[in-house]
Amino acid sequence: MKAVIIGAGLGGLLSGAKLSKAGYDIEIFERLPFIGGRFANLDYKGFKLSTGALHMIPHGSRGPLAQLLREVGAQVKIIDSNPMAVIRTANGGDIAFHDFRKQLPLTKNVKLGTILLFSRKFKPKNNISFKDWILKYFDDEFLLKLADSFCGWALSLAAKDVPAREMLEIIDNMYKYKGSGVPVGGCGAVTETLADVISSNGGKIHTKSCVDKIILDKDRAKGVGVNGKTIDSDIVISDIGHFDTSRMYECKNDEYLGKIKDAKPSKGIKICLSSDERLIGHSGVFFTPYAQRINGINEVTNADPNLAPPGKHLVMSHQAVVSDNLNDEIALGLLDLKRLFPDKKYEVLLVQSYSNGWPVNRVSSGADTGNKTPIRNLYVVGDGAKGKGGIEVEGVALGVRNVMREIGV
Ligand SMILES: Cc1cc2nc3c(=O)[nH]c(=O)nc-3n(C[C@H](O)[C@H](O)[C@H](O)COP(=O)(O)OP(=O)(O)OC[C@H]3O[C@@H](n4cnc5c(N)ncnc54)[C@H](O)[C@@H]3O)c2cc1C
Repeated sequence: MKAVIIGAGLGGLLSGAKLSKAGYDIEIFERLPFIGGRFANLDYKGFKLSTGALHMIPHGSRGPLAQLLREVGAQVKIIDSNPMAVIRTANGGDIAFHDFRKQLPLTKNVKLGTILLFSRKFKPKNNISFKDWILKYFDDEFLLKLADSFCGWALSLAAKDVPAREMLEIIDNMYKYKGSGVPVGGCGAVTETLADVISSNGGKIHTKSCVDKIILDKDRAKGVGVNGKTIDSDIVISDIGHFDTSRMYECKNDEYLGKIKDAKPSKGIKICLSSDERLIGHSGVFFTPYAQRINGINEVTNADPNLAPPGKHLVMSHQAVVSDNLNDEIALGLLDLKRLFPDKKYEVLLVQSYSNGWPVNRVSSGADTGNKTPIRNLYVVGDGAKGKGGIEVEGVALGVRNVMREIGV
């Protein structure tokens, strides 16, 4: 059996590794000169920056991505964050993430504990947003700010833009799989190791190869067009989202087209800092609910010192984009950093913004439409088709798992 994969991002590479291990003949086509998409390293002044991700795996060594990596034999070491996260409070003090309930008055604290314990019962059936859900049950300013900070860091969205249903699935997964981790060697180590697995199983990855057509036989995919050539295939897996995939063939299913055109990406800004001294001092996430724009920051060199030159630290902040003026958003982010680290010396290495065709998430969390298409044997993976409750690359791994189940691998 032959499978062709469009795009060598994390979703494409995970699919390729899983199928090649199961004996499929694999060819992956990537339009760029490098593999890994938004989960690749970017060498800059001796630092390992990235094309997208903040070098974090949301559920560390226990989550869906780590499980899939182990299954395909990709030997990636993931260092679990310790502490998982710390929150900067309104008065400038820091508290452990697990202690956030202690910031609430007793009645709200007990209510939240009960809701989390019986979370299935409280899962909304309608489309209420996470912000409105908090207002309905708690109406608490600290919780609202923390929700924006968490959603901004993890999903690049404000709490008002995340369905409560999805957020409660995410919270369930946090209890199930626990907190984040940093892959040794950064996100590029994950995608490069997957590429090695694929090659060692006989699969091929072609860079500078843009797929421009999906070839159909009635309602079944039978190959792709790349650089003027036709490549036959039994299965086609696309890592470029439903919308871009649907433009590669004549899609006549109006219901499907209607659903996928409404699924919008999430936008974000990442600022990378270099410092001689530690700015954060631990390997977890530093949530900043009272900053104007920055939602969270990490210092990945506390997990893997080799992500920076000797004696330096690599610090990365993330913020969801909340207005149309990117320059203003960046200026506010830089100002937040000055206020958060008033006595510390650091250098701004790089500011990167992500939107449109190179976003934080191709489809905002909670708006994913599954992995199937109206075409038989054509599937979509990646962060345009995440599995339920999956934050970023964990959602990518859950989506790949769904497709493998469909294929029977
Ligand atoms: C600022 C930022 C911070 C982030 N931080 C984190 C984090 O810390 N942790 C985390 O879990 N996630 C993080 N993410 C999200 C994570 O990076 C993405 O979810 C993940 O990399 C998406 O992988 P993918 O395979 O879906 O897509 P992509 O990485 O976009 O891969 C798709 C590939 O398809 C290729 N392609 C497109 N069109 C064609 C075509 N026609 N023919 C051939 N190839 C094509 C593209 O060039 C690309 O390489 C972050 C993202 C950003 C932007």
